[in-house]
Amino acid sequence: MSLRDLLTARIATQGPITVADYMAEALLHPEHGYYCTRDPLGAQGDFTTAPEISQMFGELVGLSLAQSWVDQGAPAPFTLAELGPGRGTLMADILRATARVPGFHAAAQITLIEASPPLRAAQAKTLAGHDITYVDSAEHLPDAPLWLVANEFFDALPIRQFQRDGSGWRERCVGVQKGALTFGLSPLGPQASLEHRLADTEDGQLVETCPVARPILAALASRIASRGGAALIIDYGDWRSLGDTLQALHAHAPVDPLASPGQADLTAHVDFETLCTAAAPAAHSRVTPQGVFLERLGITARAQALAAKLEGPALEAHVAAHRRLTHPAEMGNLFKVLGLFPNHAAPPPGLER
Ligand code: SAH
Repeated sequence: MSLRDLLTARIATQGPITVADYMAEALLHPEHGYYCTRDPLGAQGDFTTAPEISQMFGELVGLSLAQSWVDQGAPAPFTLAELGPGRGTLMADILRATARVPGFHAAAQITLIEASPPLRAAQAKTLAGHDITYVDSAEHLPDAPLWLVANEFFDALPIRQFQRDGSGWRERCVGVQKGALTFGLSPLGPQASLEHRLADTEDGQLVETCPVARPILAALASRIASRGGAALIIDYGDWRSLGDTLQALHAHAPVDPLASPGQADLTAHVDFETLCTAAAPAAHSRVTPQGVFLERLGITARAQALAAKLEGPALEAHVAAHRRLTHPAEMGNLFKVLGLFPNHAAPPPGLER
């Protein structure tokens, strides 16, 4: 039975499900979920991420984390963590770039949070030779100083969608019509958590919430505030979500999100306001465009140093990768970086309060 058949049968007996339930099943159903059945990254897969585009991304992220660790007195031991590490490329680049930071590797206890069995296998290969611990959620990270990165993790978390109707909201749901999965709207109801959106929306407009993001942020922030550390959260999105941003990608092209659950990547824009409001008691940086963050960390100088050793198609690919990561018309503006750090400390390099 396909996941579409399973969901259709479930909806027939239990009624429509929320977009969040649909996303959770499509991405992480243990047998049919998108992330549980494949390695989705790279040219052969459905999408590409910054660390897969160029080693420069992970190198600069690693040096920002390591400098922040030095600035906070180089506590040992500390947790060096990543949420949703994909193929392990970003962590491998972080570790290579920080190998000469005195004491950093000796003190780092590498801890990963990864739901996908195929990607765990890929991580084991990429990170062979390093001691890796897995925990199953941010709440289970050790009670220790924490330096963490999450690239394109929050965009994969299930979102709920609400359409404004007068001064109330109808939740967008997934139901079945004529045998096909279709979007519908639930009956009108008040939504206490959306009171603040009555001021900046009009009738008929759609807003999104990501209920599982808040407890994750709270778990990171409590460790960073009490034990020291920093988090770099990098994702696409903006300060406030407005409109339907649910997107399905298959073979690098957009597809209908309901057409084949479990076969396409599903993501939504990250609402950075939600992350920031959940970040107390830690301080958070300004939400900074990825291009600005990487330029501040010296990506152009690093790109020139690497370019000196390249020629022909390899040089062209390298120049294109630099542009793709930083140019405002590519990933430079759409992707944002948010830093968490203790109130008494400086933000990680590349970011400002
Ligand atoms: N950070 C990587 C991969 C991004 S893709 C990169 O930049 O290349 C999203 C990653 O998050 C994948 O590794 C996916 O398996 C993981 N993931 C998605 N939802 C998750 C969840 N709820 N819990 C843990 N990992 C999750």
